[in-house]
Amino acid sequence: MIPEVVREKPNPWRIAQSQFDRAAAYIPDLKAGIKAMLRQPKRELTVYMPVKMDDGSVEVFTGYRVHHNAVLGPTKGGIRFHPDADLDEVRALAMWMTWKCAVVGLPYGGAKGGIVVDPNRLSLGELERLTRRYATEISIIMSPEGDIPAPDVNTNAQIMAWIMDTYSMHRGFTTPAVVTGKPIDIGGSRGREAATGRGVVISMVEALRMMGETRNPEQISVVVQGFGNVGSHAARLAAERGFRIVGISDVSGGYYNPNGLDFAAMRDYVQRHPKRILEGWNGPCEKLSNREFLELPCDVLIPAALEGQFQADNAPRIRAKLIVEGANGPTTPEADDIFHDRGIIVIPDILANAGGVTVSYFEWVQDLQQFFWQEDEINKRLEQIMIESFAAVAQIAKENRVNMRLAAYIRAIGRVARAAMIRGIYP
Ligand code: NAD
Repeated sequence: MIPEVVREKPNPWRIAQSQFDRAAAYIPDLKAGIKAMLRQPKRELTVYMPVKMDDGSVEVFTGYRVHHNAVLGPTKGGIRFHPDADLDEVRALAMWMTWKCAVVGLPYGGAKGGIVVDPNRLSLGELERLTRRYATEISIIMSPEGDIPAPDVNTNAQIMAWIMDTYSMHRGFTTPAVVTGKPIDIGGSRGREAATGRGVVISMVEALRMMGETRNPEQISVVVQGFGNVGSHAARLAAERGFRIVGISDVSGGYYNPNGLDFAAMRDYVQRHPKRILEGWNGPCEKLSNREFLELPCDVLIPAALEGQFQADNAPRIRAKLIVEGANGPTTPEADDIFHDRGIIVIPDILANAGGVTVSYFEWVQDLQQFFWQEDEINKRLEQIMIESFAAVAQIAKENRVNMRLAAYIRAIGRVARAAMIRGIYP
C-alpha cells in the first residue's frame, strides 16, 4: 500500500464562488446587483456552546448555521459534525444547497450547519447534550417555516430526533416539521434514509444511458468512496440493479476486488464494528490507500465522503469514465477542467445527490399535513423528479455545449435569479 500524500485541503467557499462565477457568465440577463447578492450568504450564525462532559468538566464547542439564500422558500440543509468543519465549509455547503434545491425544482432556499467536533470521542450523553444545546442556540433562525435542518456527515436520525424534541419542548407542542431525516416513529419519511443513494444510482443509470452505454450492468464496474449513509445505500442499490461493485472505501482505507466485493458481508461487518467502519475487514480483496483507491480502473466512480477529493494533482490519473458525485464538492474547478479535456463525464453533486433533499421535502410536506405516504409512492415521485431534472440539465448541456456541472448551475441560478428579480430588492 502506497502511503497517503498529505494534501492541502482546498477552500470549499473559494470553489463554490468560482463555480458560481463560471456559470453566471452564461446567464446574459443576470443583473450585477442580483449576481452580487447570490454570491454571498444571506445570514451567518456562529455559536460557542458550553457542554457538561461526563467527568464533570465543561468544554466549549463551536457551531455554525448559515442561510445562503431564501428567495424560493424556507432554507434547507444538513448539519455536519466534523473536527475540520469551519465557516467557509458551511458557507459553501449552504450555497450548494440553494442550487441543489433549485435544480430539482423544490420550493426551498439553501442552508447548512456544522459543529467542530469528532463525535466518536463523545459519549452518547455528551453527544445528546451538545446536540440539544446547538438546537437551542440555532433555534433563533430555525423553524418549520424558516429553516429546516437534516442529517449530513456524522449526524443521523437519532440526532435529528433530539433536535426535533428540543425545539418542541421550547415551543410547548410537538413540531415534527422543524427537521427532516427523523426516525419514522416520530414523523420521519419512509425512504428518506436511502434517498440520497437512490438518487445517485438513478443519476448513474441516466448518465450511462446518455453516454450510449449498452453493456449489461454486470459488466460495468463501480467504485464507491465512503461507506456511510450515501455510499452504503448507493452501493447496495447499484448492486441490486446488477452493477459490479469492485471497490469500497471509508476512513480506514480502500478495499478492491476486480471480480466484485461481497457488499452485504461488508455492510454487516460495519454494522457490528464499534466505530461503524471497515477497519479490520479481511474478506477477499486488496487493501489500498485512499489515493490508490481513487485511481482504480473502473467504469463509474462514486465519491461519497468529503470535499476536495479530485484536484489538479490526481485528476490526470483518474481512470473512471463516469464520476457521479454523491458527496458535496468532491471536485475542484481545476480538476473539472482536466476531466472535461479527458472526456470524463461528471454528474455534479447539486444534481446527483439531490435525492436526499427531495425526500426531505416529502417528509416536511407529510409532517405539515399529518398525512403519511407509502414507500412506493415516495420512491416513484423521487425517481420522476431525478429523471426529469437530469434530462433538463442534459438538454442545457447540449444546447450550450457545456459540461453537466455548468448546465446544472445555469438551470439553478437562472431559477433563483428570476425569482429574486420578480420579488425585487427590499425595501
Ligand atoms: P456519513 O457520515 O454517513 O459517511 C461518511 C463516510 O465517508 C464514512 O464511511 C466515512 O468513513 C467516510 N470517509 C470519511 N473520510 C474519508 C476519507 N478520507 N476517505 C474515504 N472515506 C472517508 O456521511 P454521509 O451522510 O454519507 O455524507 C457523505 C457525503 O455526501 C458528504 O459530502 C455529504 O455532504 C453528502 N451528502 C449527504 C446527504 C445525506 O442525505 N446524508 C445528502 C447529500 C449529500
